Amino acid sequence: MKIHGVAASEGIAIAKAFVMEHVELDYEKKSVSDPLKELKQLEEAIDQSEKELKVIRDKTAETMDEEHAMIFDAHIQILRDPEIASQVKEMVEQNKVNAVYALYEVTEMFANIFASMDDEYMKERAADVRDVRTRVASHMLGVKMSDPTLIDEEVIVIAHDLTPSDTAQLNKEFVLGFVTNVGGRTSHSAIMARSLEIPAVLGTKNVLEKVKDGDQIIIDGVHGDVIVSPTDQQIKEYQVMKQNYAQIRERLMAYKDQATVTKDERSVELAANIGTVEDVKGVLSNGAEGVGLYRTEFLYMNSDDFPTEDEQYEAYKEVLKQMGNQKVVIRTLDIGGDKELSYLDLPKEMNPFLGHRALRLCLEETELFKTQLRALLRASVHGNLHIMFPMVATLGELRDAKKILEEAKKELIDDDVKVGEYKVGIMVEIPSVAMLADLFAKEVDFFSIGTNDLIQYTFAADRMNEKVTYLYQPYNPSLLRLIKNVIDASHKEGIWTGMCGEMAGDQVASVILLGLGLDEFSMSPTSILRIRELFGKVKYEDMKEMADRVLQFGTEEEVKNEVDRMIEKL
Ligand code: PEP
Ligand code: MG
Repeated sequence: MKIHGVAASEGIAIAKAFVMEHVELDYEKKSVSDPLKELKQLEEAIDQSEKELKVIRDKTAETMDEEHAMIFDAHIQILRDPEIASQVKEMVEQNKVNAVYALYEVTEMFANIFASMDDEYMKERAADVRDVRTRVASHMLGVKMSDPTLIDEEVIVIAHDLTPSDTAQLNKEFVLGFVTNVGGRTSHSAIMARSLEIPAVLGTKNVLEKVKDGDQIIIDGVHGDVIVSPTDQQIKEYQVMKQNYAQIRERLMAYKDQATVTKDERSVELAANIGTVEDVKGVLSNGAEGVGLYRTEFLYMNSDDFPTEDEQYEAYKEVLKQMGNQKVVIRTLDIGGDKELSYLDLPKEMNPFLGHRALRLCLEETELFKTQLRALLRASVHGNLHIMFPMVATLGELRDAKKILEEAKKELIDDDVKVGEYKVGIMVEIPSVAMLADLFAKEVDFFSIGTNDLIQYTFAADRMNEKVTYLYQPYNPSLLRLIKNVIDASHKEGIWTGMCGEMAGDQVASVILLGLGLDEFSMSPTSILRIRELFGKVKYEDMKEMADRVLQFGTEEEVKNEVDRMIEKL
């Protein structure tokens, strides 16, 4: 059986399906007549959990290292903690309640104690206690948990949706790819897949209904296909495709340390988008010339509470240092839309992508914003920092954000903390800014066009809704004209324009953007070498002519056909 979806991250993977369903465990309080029976069940569940943890521990030591394996030793310790055990026992015996409830109450108390500690290491133990509880409770309740952290063999994850924090938790050693019912090329699970360099097919609508846990699966992230229970012949075919794909990557490696120049010697910059400090490895190994977008919200999403100023400082410093003199654009918190924080209770909104998100939220939660700005300013001494504000809609917002940045800087200087050089720019992802780019250009050092949002706002089409993915139209002349307006306005003021939306790494779009005069292209690290190779085959002057021509077309099909024809001839 073949299922089709959105080709969200390239590559081919062949493995067993791991179906991930979120099951709510029932921790309800119940009276019991036989507490001893409850405690016996609990003991059995603990024994089963220990066996499981030992297997995972040994596998992790084998496939990763001892350091990672130690996490599971800590889980076994929690499982056998005498204090927890005696309190649960006491509660069950004295109050005659079910053991699952007592387990929940006692572990929650311990987790809260850990969470309130100042020591960062101890704080993190709260999540471990809750993890262990989930494991034990699922055995007691006879519920099979599809917890992604438990994956200990090579699999392809199948889910209705993967939130960015689910994706962040996947055990990267074993997850060869993923397939979901919902989502598109620019949803954040797709972005995470590309930064992990694993294939992903999203928005299939019904994969969860069609695939059973353990089914053999092939995913083709180049064409967006998912083959369920393939024949031997199909497995052979895809193995060959997988090899070919690896060979192309190898060929492209020749461009790794080269500059990005067209045949007529125009240089542009190819930078990479990252979500975590670990992603810098992929940036360097794919020969990027800088980081064009560091989405800092993953730092907030991978944590149980707001990251402190020091934690953020360490992360920013690390990225800046690893990138040496190369430019690093760090974007301030862009939460909301499809990105939530478990510890920040944001009211449900009718239209989250049009709501109280990103800079709008930061301008209201000024302490939260200032903590991040202080961390950024402190890190500025370690490299070539560019601070970028997301989701700016008006000049007033930009001025307010810059004012808070100035205040943060003054506070640091008053405290004798050194602040280095840095640049300040904005994302152009709302049409109001693209239209007024000439005036914005006078007040910033750079622009970076965020087409993932700019397209959804220009065409009024939710980027998460697969029914309207046909309106994700990067080649539509209306969008191209908006982009031209931004680039021209920036050049008149002597500042540069980059693009960090997914469009920058798309081959057809990239040559048009080159012709429109875009200065910097920031994309998933794995797209860089392909674009560098392509740019080396074209002349800027020709692309400029082509861009002028396609700006007069009416539909995106016409634009795409014209560019495809040109690329075919190369
Ligand atoms: C964009 O909107 O194009 C962008 C790069 O930001 P994000 O995808 O994080 O919204
Ligand atoms: Mg955006």
